[in-house]
Amino acid sequence: MSKVSTLQSWIGGRWMGSEAGLSLHSAIDNSLIYHTHAESVDAQQALDYARRTGVPALMALDFQQRAACLRALASHIQQHREELYTIAYLSGATRADSKQDICAGIGVLNSYAGIAASGLPSGNVLHEAPAMSLCRRGGAAGTHIMVPRGGVALHINPFNLPVWSLLEKFAASFLAAMPCIVKPATCTSYLAEALVRLIDASGVLPKGALQLAIGPADALLARLQDNDAVSFTGSDATATTLRNHPNLLARSVQVSLGAASLNCAILGPDVRSGEPEFELLVDAIVRSMTVKAGQDGAAIRRVMVPHGQIEALTARLRERLAAVVIGDPAQAGVQMGPLASQEQRSELGARVRALAEESDIVCGQADGYAPSGAGVRDGAFAAPTLLLCRGGARSDAVHEIEAFGPVCALMPYADVEEALALAARGRGSLASTLATRDPKLAAYAVPRLAASHGRVLVLEREVAAAGTDVLASAHLKYGGPGRAGCGEQLGGLRAISQYLQRSALQGSPTMLTAVTSEYVRGAAVRESVQHPFRKHFDELEVGESLLTHRRTVCEADIVAFGGISGDYFYMHFDEIAARDSQFGRRIAHGYFVLAAAAGLFVSPAPGPVLANYGLDDLRFVAPVGIGDTIRARLTCKRKVDRQRRDDKGVGQGVVSWDVQVTNQNDELVASYDILTLVAKGAGL
Ligand code: NDP
Repeated sequence: MSKVSTLQSWIGGRWMGSEAGLSLHSAIDNSLIYHTHAESVDAQQALDYARRTGVPALMALDFQQRAACLRALASHIQQHREELYTIAYLSGATRADSKQDICAGIGVLNSYAGIAASGLPSGNVLHEAPAMSLCRRGGAAGTHIMVPRGGVALHINPFNLPVWSLLEKFAASFLAAMPCIVKPATCTSYLAEALVRLIDASGVLPKGALQLAIGPADALLARLQDNDAVSFTGSDATATTLRNHPNLLARSVQVSLGAASLNCAILGPDVRSGEPEFELLVDAIVRSMTVKAGQDGAAIRRVMVPHGQIEALTARLRERLAAVVIGDPAQAGVQMGPLASQEQRSELGARVRALAEESDIVCGQADGYAPSGAGVRDGAFAAPTLLLCRGGARSDAVHEIEAFGPVCALMPYADVEEALALAARGRGSLASTLATRDPKLAAYAVPRLAASHGRVLVLEREVAAAGTDVLASAHLKYGGPGRAGCGEQLGGLRAISQYLQRSALQGSPTMLTAVTSEYVRGAAVRESVQHPFRKHFDELEVGESLLTHRRTVCEADIVAFGGISGDYFYMHFDEIAARDSQFGRRIAHGYFVLAAAAGLFVSPAPGPVLANYGLDDLRFVAPVGIGDTIRARLTCKRKVDRQRRDDKGVGQGVVSWDVQVTNQNDELVASYDILTLVAKGAGL
């Protein structure tokens, strides 16, 4: 008999733990597969290491460099992902289930790397523009900055998605320069350990950026300090414990919670059985009940159905669920594996019994489902269980009890108001789905659903082409209000900023520019002797500026531009109508002013500027008429080094330029930022 391994924690840069602690069993056949380690994690050592080694190592990098680390880490895990897939079978996950955990986790790292590369600056100060003037004469300005907090993030993860939950929380805090200590759920901690071993072997992360603490988190929680953060996903009960934890309260530690969620779906009153939206909802319910055996925080638990469609939907779901192949997840053709552990199985059984007191069981355990595979008799299998709650408004259980497994309850409704009222009985949930073809219904119902749900999917045939999985995306917020915990994970920059500290910054525009590394209007500029477009990325400095020569706009310009563009709008070509307009005269096209300004500030010969790829925040502030004289000021506003090279190996960075076009009276007529890609000097 092969020796059962003891899992280890990764603390202070070393793997620790050798004595066997708790026994962990295979979800498939209940065989003993691992022991946790019996030794306690030294919480003080872990926190000290994070603070003294992790924080400085992370701060030695900037946002862009950390984004590049995430990309490299994603690539390393991708190369070794099969090792994780093999272990994941033990937790009951089929190959398809693991894609939602392992593949999606790698995807989140890549997404965050991209979000940070395009949305975060070089350096470690994130400027929340725009700055605003705080006095009429312009000397004082104010803005907001977000900065790393210097603390430690404790991530407490659920058992159902051990890879994804570790990586999605880690990515956001890592980008914010917060070292993290991960406490995985014990029953699938072997998968978290395998992942962290891969991360360790990659050598990509700075020392102290990540630690793994298998076992209780009490000692860590008791030692957290004011600038630390806790991010948790799990049950209501643990969420409540954390919400009331004395040390977290006393120290005002930031706590983000993702807890139990009674997600719902509404079949719109416009949808009839057999229509694509009806079948799409059937697909979504079956998938949500069977993927990860229904152990997903976003799984559909309650479905509101028009009275006239309840029999048809019930029959269709019973038919589909009867065809689901259940068994050893490593076997070909198996669509649903077991729950993660025997504990989850008995917990689920108790919850189904409680739900059945107010609902009929349409199909479930009693229907003779038979998992396939060797040894599965002892596995943590549960039958897909469909409930019908005919009195949804009178029942409490169906809106309160989350059966975390392949369980879903249908309930009829009379009208949309009743359906929305039933949806809100979940007291705040992660996700909701509205199956409808009716845009008016969507416009009415979605804002009402959004009031108590973190995410709303409007399900119809067009979105089916893109796949109807309500998969978490790093770009979209994940988390719901009320009992779902009020946590906000993912959501792109929003999630990263949760781990940063926002501070209001007041001072002169010159000081704001110095602090934010971003030119703020009104700050002192350095007149550039050499044209700034002739400078490489590394030679340019924020605040470097060019004031161009002048150009008087004449009628021929307007006529020529109208001819080129085909834009003969009355304001430019109809003397009488233009005189009656708010400007009282013919004016030049705004886009002519834009084009003329480019003509004023470009340096035409080939040089380090490789591309002009757009402009932001364009405003035509005042009209330019025939006889007006314009000039432009071009100021280097922001430099972002995305750590990229072109095909020839030449480094390049993004430079944003502040452009102000003024007239003969020094009045601003047009204002915008242009975005350019600029080559670095030789060898960089
Ligand atoms: P738990 O709350 O028991 O466990 C979740 C995590 O918290 C685990 O890492 C667990 O560690 C840890 N934990 C447990 N007690 C404490 C404590 N007193 N202090 C600190 N950490 C603690 O949840 P379950 O394992 O039962 O997970 C299932 C539940 O999670 C589901 O019922 C569902 O409601 C919820 N869930 C929510 C999701 C969401 O996105 N909102 C997603 C997934 C699950 P250990 O394992 O060692 O006990």
